[in-house]
Order: sequence, then structure tokens, then C-alpha cells
Amino acid sequence: MSKTIKIFSVWLLLLSFAGQVAAYATQFADSSETLRLHWNTRLIPIAFSTSLIKPNPYIKPDSDITGAVERSLETWEKAANIKFQVSWTDKQSISPTGKSGDGISLVTVAQTTENILLFGDDANVVSARTRVFFNRKGSITEADIVLNPYEQFSTDGLFGTFDFEATLTHEIGHLLGLEHSSISGATMHGQQGKNGVYNLSSFSSRTLAEDDISGIRALYGANSAEEKCCGAISGKLLQATGRPAKEFQVWAEGAESGRVAAGVLTNADGTFRIEGLLAGQYRLYAQDAGRDATKSFSVEELGEVSLGKGKTAVIFKKLKSETKDFDVRYVGFNGQISELAVPINGGKSYLIYVGGKNLDSGKVSIGFNSPYLTVTPKSLINHNYGADVSVISFEVNVAAEIPLGEYSFFIKSKGANTEFAVGSLTVETFINQWNSYRLLTDE
Ligand SMILES: [Zn+2]
Repeated sequence: MSKTIKIFSVWLLLLSFAGQVAAYATQFADSSETLRLHWNTRLIPIAFSTSLIKPNPYIKPDSDITGAVERSLETWEKAANIKFQVSWTDKQSISPTGKSGDGISLVTVAQTTENILLFGDDANVVSARTRVFFNRKGSITEADIVLNPYEQFSTDGLFGTFDFEATLTHEIGHLLGLEHSSISGATMHGQQGKNGVYNLSSFSSRTLAEDDISGIRALYGANSAEEKCCGAISGKLLQATGRPAKEFQVWAEGAESGRVAAGVLTNADGTFRIEGLLAGQYRLYAQDAGRDATKSFSVEELGEVSLGKGKTAVIFKKLKSETKDFDVRYVGFNGQISELAVPINGGKSYLIYVGGKNLDSGKVSIGFNSPYLTVTPKSLINHNYGADVSVISFEVNVAAEIPLGEYSFFIKSKGANTEFAVGSLTVETFINQWNSYRLLTDE
């Protein structure tokens, strides 16, 4: 079996959530994107259908569904000033499309006509979907979640199934008003893998990335336990031509840790705003998020920001807009490449793959902003995955004391242009046992 076929087999495993990838982003009530969707109450009612706990073919028997529901809601409650009011109901079907629903925000997995309609033609590529109802003022009045009854869910990492808790946590982000994030490794990232991608359990999205936390705090503020919340960074970017830098990914990382704090995409006029950040020291970057490799620009550092609580830092910048001679599209692990972040653990080393265009181990180097990550010298090698994609791999060494969260690596060409794989390494508590010993000498 050729390597090319291997890639396509990964794509089959790689099922996406609904919608488009758009940064840590909020949903809007209007096309001009001024009315941000959010609940007008801090106590949000949510009803779980008994279809989730009655024996059914869509959920692996003996799964800990009630435990996963509790943990998933708590995960969001800890991050922001919201509480859920939970009930269980025999109701099976969500409200049909229309101006308003029945007022009950339902989570269901029942295979009813109304629920299946929500998936349209995507019934075999999407794990779950959320329909949000809102009024003219942008207040969410109801949000219904359907877990795709053509898929199977579990809570024990069974390969070939979706993780129930990870899926639910992502969909509750939509229920609360969040859109997809462009930060790999964020719970609100638009791609979710089934258990088995990279030969690992897909538990990453059970826990929130700092990016998810910033996003939800932008909508609801932090709960009272968090004293350093919140500040914002806003600004405007222009290309060298003077045109607005539209759809550029702008992200902030902890100046000391190098951990990704939050990222957004710039608007059509080049403006951006990152809210919900803890007071502290951040480094800011901008990178062309365009999918067309031939038109994309090298990353640029926007500077360092000292952010006070309740303050907004402002950055205006004209970018140099240097074009790149390569493109990073995928990361990978265990020989597979995809758009999913790779889960890693502190105190271990891992072989990380990168896929894209014009990637050649002889012409590029790998680096990190985080002092907790280093690359093993001379570990960079080429792989043959066929003509459509160039793939290289390197070994990353992760310091034992690295804080949990999302980290980036960058690829720099000899021509000095650089691209970041933003947040594509996610330090998790669940074990990635596939650490490498091969390149370590004195074990
Ligand atoms: Zn989604």
C-alpha cells in the first residue's frame, strides 16, 4: 500500500464539525457582523433527551453519558460567568427551522426526520450540529444540538467512534454563541477526529484551549474567581500595497511561555479585536490565512504588548507582505497527516510530521517560540507521500514542566520567510504513549 493511499485513509477518519473555520470567533445576528449572538441570561436552560441514555445503536453501551454531560457543562461554567440549568426530557426532536423554536434547548441523538434534516447532505461527514435561534437584538432564545445518529459515540476512546464528551463540549460552544476557531488544538476548531486518528484517542476537545476561554469570556466575562480578567488587543493591519490585510490570522501568545492565548481573523477592512485576555505580557503575530499558497505571505511579528486588566491595547501596522516559497497545510503523527493538532505530554519526545507544498528538509528549519520546546538537531527528514504533498518530519523534545495548552512551531526557509503551525501541538493530560526513543541516545 502506497503512502498516498495512507493519506486518503486518514481523510476518511477526519470528520468535521459543521460550519466554516473563522478564528476564535463569535456568531453574529446580522450580515454586517455588528450584533454578536449571546444569551441574555447568565443561567442557561439546557434539556438532554433521554435518547442519549436509552440503549441505542449510536452510543456505545455502558458509556458514561451522564458523567460526560456534567463534565462538559462544568468545563464551560469554569471558564466564564455562566451556569446551566439542566433537565432531562423524553423529547426526541429539535425545533424545525424558522424564526423561533419551542423555547427548549434540546440535546438529542434520536434518529427522527427533523433531526436528520439538520445535516442536509452532510450526514456522513459531520459528528454533530447545532441550530441557534435568536431575536433581532442578537439574544439567543434557543439552541438545539443533534449528535449525528449515523455515527457512533463513546466515552472510552474506542477507535472508529467519536468521543461523546469532546463532541458535546464543542457543540455547547456553538450553543453559547461561539463560531469555529482557526487555532488548531482549540475545542472550537472546525475539525474533529474520530478516536484512532494518529492511533490515539481524540480527547483533546474535552478541555478548553486558552483561545476558547478568551472567546467565551469575550461574550460573558469571567466568573468571579478570575481576578486578572480581562483585557483586549485591537488594531488594523494593512498590506504593503496599502490595501487592508483581510482574513489574516492574528494571534497572541504568552511572552514567556510561548503558549497560544487567543487568535482571530482580521475583518475585510483589516481590523481585528482579541478580547477576553488575562492581564499580562503577550507577543503578537499576523499570518496570511489565505488557502492559496501562491498568494500567501510570510508571518510577521506585530510586537509585544503589556496588557492591563480592563485595558485595550491598540496596534496599527503596515505589513512588509513578503511572499513565501513554501506552504504548510497539515501536521501529523504516527505517519498520518491531517489538520488536527497533535496531543503531546511534558517530559517526552515525539516525531512530528508536517505536510504542504515545497517542504524540503534541506531547505527549511524548524523552530519554537516556547522555551519548553526544542527540536532534536539533525532530526529533520523528508518523506515520500506522493506528488501532491511534500512531507517532512522532526523530533520535538518537550520539557517536563511545560504548562498544559496549545503551542506552535514554525518553519523557516533559507530565504528567511516563515510560517507558523499555530497551536498545532497541544499539551494534554491524557497519555500519548507514542513517544520516540529512536532518536534519543542514552536512555
Ligand atoms: Zn462546530
